[in-house]
Amino acid sequence: MIIVMKAGAAKKDRDEVLKRIRELGYKPHVIHGTTRDVIGAVGDERGKLVLQSIESMHGVESVVPILKPYKLASREVKVEPSVIRISDTVSIGGPEIIVMAGPCSVEGEEQIIETAKAVKAAGAQVLRGGAFKPRTSPYSFQGLEEEGLKLLAKARDITGLPIVTEVVNPETADLVAEYSDILQIGARNAQNFALLKKVGQLRRPVLLKRGMSMTIQEFLMSAEYVMSEGNQQVILCERGIRTFETATRNTLDLSAIPVLKGMTHLPVIADPSHGTGNYHYVAPMALAAVAAGADGLMIEVHPDPERASSDGPQSLKPKKFEALMTKIRLVAQSVDRTL
Ligand code: PEP
Ligand code: MN
Repeated sequence: MIIVMKAGAAKKDRDEVLKRIRELGYKPHVIHGTTRDVIGAVGDERGKLVLQSIESMHGVESVVPILKPYKLASREVKVEPSVIRISDTVSIGGPEIIVMAGPCSVEGEEQIIETAKAVKAAGAQVLRGGAFKPRTSPYSFQGLEEEGLKLLAKARDITGLPIVTEVVNPETADLVAEYSDILQIGARNAQNFALLKKVGQLRRPVLLKRGMSMTIQEFLMSAEYVMSEGNQQVILCERGIRTFETATRNTLDLSAIPVLKGMTHLPVIADPSHGTGNYHYVAPMALAAVAAGADGLMIEVHPDPERASSDGPQSLKPKKFEALMTKIRLVAQSVDRTL
């Protein structure tokens, strides 16, 4: 249910409503709007009619059911887009397109620092790099783990770029959160509900990637797992889905971008690197994603892709990335965004 407070309702009235929601066995989530607050009350669907009684409380305008199965993520609960703050200077979901760039894996100090400097110079606002790698094969490089996190933190100190890196299990989530500005949940873990709940309890923005065989509704249900634990800072990432097509690694579902933007207030970004698996296709799909309304991009960049420990074939060299950023700037302008 959504409890819509009257415009300018007193804090004391809102607190009474929060208390009543808890007494009835539901979890309240306050969503601050521009003119009024709304409170999402989520919990057992079967007893939700008892919440209707809140309508008679002071300061309450109406109590309405949330029709969609995803509740806190829906546009019903929040009409205006959510802007998620990443650092003092970087926010995602506003007019600025946010580009997260860097290598698939952190491989060593020189590699990550060199890449961080290059992507920063080209205009990227966030550095990406995997320290814990969820590889399809147990024999593939699994990442530098905590050493990789330390190197990312060093790259942040040098460049000022906030960092995004993947969390692969609940046990190491606190460790990753100590170092990272954004917690990435990878496609392979997009329905790992224990992990989603764990990052929902942390106070860090979460970058949630779409699972490779997830419907858009299932994707939003995964976001709901994070949000229902109290963490509203979820960024959705379309990274390609598995189809019958084999010419590309995945099929980047560009239509998911406007579809998601209609269904949810959460920011949506696209990852054309994993979406295509081939560096030749990264630039056209990055530009198309911005034209389609994406709030940002995740792009793999490596100084020496031929020698990369993972995902070399889809990584751009810094020069190519720089050229792409110039084009992204032009497309961004044409859809009333900045970069
Ligand atoms: C990654 O970002 O390096 C990654 C493993 O992505 P995905 O989970 O989308 O495959
Ligand atoms: Mn990768």
